[in-house]
Amino acid sequence: MSCLYIVPTPIGNLKDITIRSIELLNQVDLILAEDTRTTSHLLKQYNISTPLRSYHQYNEHKITKSIVKEMLEANKSFALVSDAGTPAISDPGFLLIREGLKQGLEIITLPGPTAFVPALLQSGFPCDTFIFEGFLPHKKGRQKKIIEFSQEKRTIVLYESPHRIEKLLKELEQHLEKDRKISISRELTKKFEETTTGTIHELQLKYNSKKPKGEFVVVIEGKK
Ligand code: SAM
Repeated sequence: MSCLYIVPTPIGNLKDITIRSIELLNQVDLILAEDTRTTSHLLKQYNISTPLRSYHQYNEHKITKSIVKEMLEANKSFALVSDAGTPAISDPGFLLIREGLKQGLEIITLPGPTAFVPALLQSGFPCDTFIFEGFLPHKKGRQKKIIEFSQEKRTIVLYESPHRIEKLLKELEQHLEKDRKISISRELTKKFEETTTGTIHELQLKYNSKKPKGEFVVVIEGKK
């Protein structure tokens, strides 16, 4: 039976992969990878020699339908991985899953690494209910989102690139209360992993004196 496995991969520390993920990546006929070079590096660590094919944001619209059809007709199993973390979480994957379901493909998603969960927990903000917004739009709709955050009672989780962290803090300063707490987790699972929690002003002081570098998850406390 043809099956698509959605396989999370490490977000930094290569040891953060499950035994089941390694077994499946070994067993499937094909691995669709966001960047075949990045995935080759991971596969080499675990002596996996399954063939790879590129599947990324620039070709997903074009090839999704035909890949699903091809794998179903050949009765083959395949896996989807992204460069880091869980596919489809701010990464390609949604189109493939939707098309697979449409064409009657069996889909099994493995649990595993994703950046927003450790960042949410490390913040110490309520995590019984929260919203995940991924990357904010760069221009259109960005301010509207931030104004919505000013009224949001649940904890808010965002992904942000290092060169926009200072801009984001400035925007949050304009629209959120002065005592609203923010938690920034950087380089999770890596050598220079750190989480800093404080008011917007405290975080601005930190990042004005030290240029933000690496990968960041921003967690915003909900409105009290
Ligand atoms: N699919 C991934 C996941 O499950 O988390 C997210 C991919 S998205 C393209 C990349 C963003 O995830 C980064 O810009 C950063 O916001 C966040 N991220 C990924 N790895 C991270 C890490 N080790 N530490 C902090 N943030 C990370």
